[in-house]
Amino acid sequence: MTTLDPALVQALNARLVDHSELGASAADHAVIQSSTIAAIMDRKYDGDVTIKELLSGGDLGLGTLNGLDGELIIVDGEAWQAPAEGPVRRVGDDEQTPFAVATRFITDEVVEIERPLDYPELLTLLESHAPADSGCDAVRIDGTFPALHLRTVYRQEKPYPPFADVTANQVEWRYEDLRGTLVGFRFPHAASTVEMAGHHLHFISDDRTKAGHVLDCSAGPATLRIEAVGEMRLELPPGVELPDPHDVASDQQLRDLEGG
Ligand SMILES: [Zn+2]
Repeated sequence: MTTLDPALVQALNARLVDHSELGASAADHAVIQSSTIAAIMDRKYDGDVTIKELLSGGDLGLGTLNGLDGELIIVDGEAWQAPAEGPVRRVGDDEQTPFAVATRFITDEVVEIERPLDYPELLTLLESHAPADSGCDAVRIDGTFPALHLRTVYRQEKPYPPFADVTANQVEWRYEDLRGTLVGFRFPHAASTVEMAGHHLHFISDDRTKAGHVLDCSAGPATLRIEAVGEMRLELPPGVELPDPHDVASDQQLRDLEGG
């Protein structure tokens, strides 16, 4: 398909852009995104957007690197990778992503989390403060995390295996009492052709030694910041087409695979 799902256009004012205009085109309260979650489910693990291009349009975000090489965390305008093997590291400007979403983060609302919340309580809090008049929101939580259950995935070699095989061999870590930052997004069901509906959160510790995709956590005391997002700029790498809304995995199927 070559046209965006009307539901996505209506919910997020989405439009397609070339990768060269991805960063330049980003406006306030907008997300830029490379490729789609459906493409990842279809084993399209290589993209053509560089980290430099991504950072030119967003200073907070998440995703992965080409080859499905670990988890990507963008915070304070810096890109970090949590590889399955080896330490957390800064990502080079020329490295590329097959799937990422980022925003120039603007704080629209601040919520102090006074006491530790478990994961269901945290998600309920995020939902209760979700901007009513926006298509999605970006969140940032800075503070203490009494418990964290993170995962990352191994870099894949061609021919690429199905995503379910990748997550079946994922690496998981459990930590206690870390200080750090959660970054992420909440997308509506209308975005499920291109994004994971619901919350998607990545973590990185203050000392930048521990990071990953959040499967479970408790948070607090901490400060939650929320940005209302009303626009999406979407870039499709060569070979990636927009999915037919009828063909995409259900929200629950994606959630089962992705976790968190
Ligand atoms: Zn993730």
